[in-house]
Amino acid sequence: MDIHEHQAKDILAAFGVPVPRGGLAFSPEQAAFRCRELGGGRCVVKAQIHSGGRGAAGGVKLCDGEAAVREFAAALLGTALVTKQTDSNGKRVDRLWIEEASQIARELYLGFVLDRKSERIMIVASGHGGMEIEDLAEEDPESLIRMVLDPAVGLAEYQARELAFRLGLEAGQIAQMVTVLNACYRAYRDLDATMVEINPLVICADGSLVALDAKMSFDTNALFRRTQVAALRDPGQEDPRESFAADHGLAYVGLDGDIGCIINGAGLAMASMDMIQLAGGSPANFLDIGGGASPERVCQAFRTVLSDRNVSVILVNIFAGINRCDWIAKGVIQAYREVGIDLPVVVRLSGTNVEAGRRIIAESGLPIISADTLAEAAEAAVAARPQPVSA
Ligand code: GDP
Ligand code: MN
Repeated sequence: MDIHEHQAKDILAAFGVPVPRGGLAFSPEQAAFRCRELGGGRCVVKAQIHSGGRGAAGGVKLCDGEAAVREFAAALLGTALVTKQTDSNGKRVDRLWIEEASQIARELYLGFVLDRKSERIMIVASGHGGMEIEDLAEEDPESLIRMVLDPAVGLAEYQARELAFRLGLEAGQIAQMVTVLNACYRAYRDLDATMVEINPLVICADGSLVALDAKMSFDTNALFRRTQVAALRDPGQEDPRESFAADHGLAYVGLDGDIGCIINGAGLAMASMDMIQLAGGSPANFLDIGGGASPERVCQAFRTVLSDRNVSVILVNIFAGINRCDWIAKGVIQAYREVGIDLPVVVRLSGTNVEAGRRIIAESGLPIISADTLAEAAEAAVAARPQPVSA
């Protein structure tokens, strides 16, 4: 789960990372008020969206005084910001962070990520901040410093100092850097984060270190024990299809194709998506309905898949172990009744109670296309798509 920059700054500040003073605004008037609160001078107005690359997309601006802040806020609020990291729809700007401007002398990059290879937290740092990490890795890979942390020891003081030296920091900044590194590490570990990024971490004209930007992501599977983190979720920034699914406990990932998938088990869902591709089609989503799916749950799955307007055919593929094919069949029929389906539906059932399931489908009188194997189901789904009108 991602959170906003201002939320990440709040968290990191509580752990000891210095951040500029600032305030949140949901309207141009509030933005102007925040500027006044900060002394009425030069402020940075920053769009709060779950994406980086805002600066280059026009979502971050230095403004001189209240009037300029109000004007930029009015222009930005309510728009969708398209960045290098968003899709072409962009992300809606509903809130702004108004911050006192900093005098930047040097920009550094600092990130804490999970290195899956070593199965450890890794620090990635560079003396060339400001750029996105992907661009840095491409344009200046030599500047990237990587440091893997031993979970039994945590971040050792000597590692923190070594990193500060390698970044070329001066004597007066070493201790500040050690404080920042320790704070980020503790925030990452104590809150079950998967990523902490400060880009840029700046050295100001007066020699002080300040986090000008902050980004944190969290392990969704740990949110149950991090209720204060879970409360920071902003559904307005999520794919509406995925929020709807999450609210109903379905594992769903939206994709670009037109064949909607309702499948049990992540492995079978992946295999089905591959088979669809192989048959010449393109999946609209990944959806794992899970074990023990009641007819109601199947109905919710249909609602979720149908909320995607690109979907032109639905493929239901169930290999029932814990599940029961008769329940799935009842769910499909209930979905026809309650959700109103006017698209072709291909159903492939296998496993527990498969005979009962197939009978229920056959006797329903509904225009459901039945398939026996995964390959047949994928081919039937691709064939059932409405033919494109040729010119
Ligand atoms: P991002 O583009 O989404 O990563 O947003 P950032 O918060 O990193 O802001 C983009 C850029 O704006 C930064 O890399 C800085 O160069 C610049 N910026 C942000 N805050 C300030 C500030 O207080 N003073 C100055 N001069 N530049 C700033
Ligand atoms: Mn940034």
